[in-house]
Amino acid sequence: MSKVYFASARVKKWKYDESMPGKLERLLKEMVLSKYFEKGEWVAVKTHFGSDGAHRIVRPVFLRKVVESLKTIGAKPFVTDTVRIKGLDYLEVANQNGINHLSVGAPVVIADGLYGNDNIMVKTGDILGEIAVASLIYDVPAMVVCSHVKGHINAGYAGAIKNIAMGGVSGSHRHCGWKCGRGAMHAIGEGKFIWDEDKCAFCYQCEEICPLDCINFKDDRFNYYDERCWRCGRCTRVCPEGALVLPGDDELFMKSLSEAARAVLSTFKPNKVIYINFLTEIQPECDCMPAAEVPVIQDIGILISDDIVAVEQASIDLLLKENPLPSSLAEDEKIREGEDILFNLHKKPYILQVEEAERLGLGNRQYELIEL
Ligand code: SF4
Ligand code: SF4
Repeated sequence: MSKVYFASARVKKWKYDESMPGKLERLLKEMVLSKYFEKGEWVAVKTHFGSDGAHRIVRPVFLRKVVESLKTIGAKPFVTDTVRIKGLDYLEVANQNGINHLSVGAPVVIADGLYGNDNIMVKTGDILGEIAVASLIYDVPAMVVCSHVKGHINAGYAGAIKNIAMGGVSGSHRHCGWKCGRGAMHAIGEGKFIWDEDKCAFCYQCEEICPLDCINFKDDRFNYYDERCWRCGRCTRVCPEGALVLPGDDELFMKSLSEAARAVLSTFKPNKVIYINFLTEIQPECDCMPAAEVPVIQDIGILISDDIVAVEQASIDLLLKENPLPSSLAEDEKIREGEDILFNLHKKPYILQVEEAERLGLGNRQYELIEL
């Protein structure tokens, strides 16, 4: 049985030790970082930098606490993510969202190069075959995975597995393009992209949100560039009329996430990666969307473990105990107390990620929750 340490977001006494940063410090001490990381060793602190309008990320103060804790044992941390937009622009996004060398106390670098094609193909399994792992993550000997737990268009629930599966690989590969990168997961089991002209209100939100300019309405016609589209699903998510449908295979998608996570983790020796899940500002969508919605679930706290499966299962179990927040998308969707909020928002069988990760030998769904 794996151990998962937990600190609640609630404050019972008005002192630093009871604050979230203070509790994170205690959680990191409890983990005894010297069991995993060595003096002088480079350690990647993998997070998600967010987007221009998505400010609800793992807050810089938490990243700083992780960096400081690593430095106390003599390790050399840096904070990193893979690109979703051009690298220089993405570093500006990180800076705007408060993540820079000065704030977190360590270099902030892109893991797969400024053009997002600095990666190495790594074997995965039966579903994906191989995938383009960011070269920095491939090379670095140790990692702390800092994940902002929230909903997700395709994954339904996004935590540590999604953070390293989608975020540990590149968007595309220098030679084989998006089909070797995270697009390989999105395109799993894809059917034909459907646009229903009768339902379309010509609001052009799909055109605006597409990161790859795959959609336009020139000459009042719907033009879609199939070869360029990496099936991220953003256009279907924002369409207010349900006029866009991108059929897929949810089960295969969830399993492919776990496969990609295993590929990323296969580049590390045993006991060189730990996981911190932040159950804070739990919004319905991914941090890469152009805006951050208000949270659908109240802040719960922080979980830390050296078992990715256990930390994910514990996070989900805690989420399932919570009620939907008023004045949020959960209320709009009429989700009631006791219902699975993230499932009802996205209708995705997200638990399959965790079950598959266990089947692939990444960890254990049985855990002991130790609350500080
Ligand atoms: S799924 Fe939609 S938003 Fe995503 S790349 Fe394809 S067309 Fe663009
Ligand atoms: S978002 Fe939907 S309704 Fe709006 S233009 Fe695109 S397909 Fe039409």
